Amino acid sequence: MSAIDLVEDDDRAALRKLARDVAERDIAPHAPGWDETEEFAEASLEALRRAELFTVTVGEDYGGMGMGDVEAAIVLEEIARVDVSSAILCQLVFNGPPRAIEHLGNETLRSRWLPQAAAGELFCIGITEPDAGSAATTMRAHLTPDGDGWRLDAYKNYVTGGHKAVACLVWCRFPGSEAGTGKGIGAVVVDLASHGVSVAGTHRKMGLRGCTEAELAFDGVRIEPDDVLVPGDPADNSGLKTLLAHINHERCGNAAMCVGAAQGALEYAMAYMRDRKVGTKLLAELQGLQWKIADIATELEGARFLLQRALVLAGRHGTPPPLESAMAKIACNLAAKRVCDEAIQLLGGYGYSREYPVERAYRDIRGLCIGAGTVEIQRNFVGTALLGGRVPAGPWWKAPPR
Ligand SMILES: Cc1cc2nc3c(=O)[nH]c(=O)nc-3n(C[C@H](O)[C@H](O)[C@H](O)COP(=O)(O)OP(=O)(O)OC[C@H]3O[C@@H](n4cnc5c(N)ncnc54)[C@H](O)[C@@H]3O)c2cc1C
Repeated sequence: MSAIDLVEDDDRAALRKLARDVAERDIAPHAPGWDETEEFAEASLEALRRAELFTVTVGEDYGGMGMGDVEAAIVLEEIARVDVSSAILCQLVFNGPPRAIEHLGNETLRSRWLPQAAAGELFCIGITEPDAGSAATTMRAHLTPDGDGWRLDAYKNYVTGGHKAVACLVWCRFPGSEAGTGKGIGAVVVDLASHGVSVAGTHRKMGLRGCTEAELAFDGVRIEPDDVLVPGDPADNSGLKTLLAHINHERCGNAAMCVGAAQGALEYAMAYMRDRKVGTKLLAELQGLQWKIADIATELEGARFLLQRALVLAGRHGTPPPLESAMAKIACNLAAKRVCDEAIQLLGGYGYSREYPVERAYRDIRGLCIGAGTVEIQRNFVGTALLGGRVPAGPWWKAPPR
């Protein structure tokens, strides 16, 4: 593991500045409106396209900049600092199907979809079903043989951006797969303009209201051999394992958005405290409240370092490792929950008002504690991994004898 940089090089600093400028100029003024009306953040999509921010992680051969998870996190953090819904648009491209297609897909998939990703077309991922969330192995989505290809029948819910995306990565059972197990689960890329695909509905939510989750129905959708991203082998769960390992990009992106939203809430609360008087004193002069700031800032910085470790370990073209990613997601989800909650408290009654941004940040990050694998599921993984003898990267852990 190389050292975590406390000073960003010129390229990363320039990327952060670009993302921050877009966030503050083009996104922040509109974010409260999308939250109120639950309209999709179209203006954000346009602003991110104009700034060519969707190119960050797409390979240079396909019109992108070919950068890695660290750069993806910089952009996600800066956009989420003002609006998590808009950051999710980037997340869908950086850490969603396009990255999986680039790392795991065939050349036909890459040349068809990656230029569209770099141009800012949205992609979505369909894993969850009404009766299969945390327990993905209970999914029903399946392929039936059809000549040299297959037909897909599936009903996926909670598909972020599913009603706006051009393609969906659908996790499904390949023929011969054993129901209720991971055996034979793989994934295919579905063009959402295909015959048999329909948007069955959208979810109405507590937060992230500028970026809706859709319910997608797939009724006998034709799947060509080249549409297969990861084949499911009915004899084992190797396909599922490959897919789960790759989802660590999404987990780290989720964590980066939590860090960004929490940073925004923390900075807003501190500015408010320097301005708001109670009686003769500023809130910032009250020691009990200074301690709150000390505690939440420390928790946030600790979470940020765990995330940095996972990102640095991924390198420019790799995937963040599972144990470090799970620890980072837990820490960043919980830190964001605490920071945004305390930011509301520090603003008093105004913190609870929709005229101030901290309650929106709280509602938004609440969804991130559930998406990309809940905090509980990350804890299950971390607990069993540690007790099973796995240790996270760093010289301070000594692996126990197996
Ligand atoms: C904002 C948002 C965006 C999302 N985007 C997508 C998307 O784009 N694509 C997609 O496919 N899905 C998406 N999801 C769905 C998400 O992945 C699931 O909601 C999540 O995996 C949990 O599944 P579930 O809702 O069925 O809850 P359940 O699996 O029913 O779990 C209910 C509760 O029980 C806990 N639990 C479950 N099993 C265990 C266990 N073994 N031990 C301890 N606790 C457990 C869970 O942590 C949770 O708290 C999104 C969800 C949200 C909120």
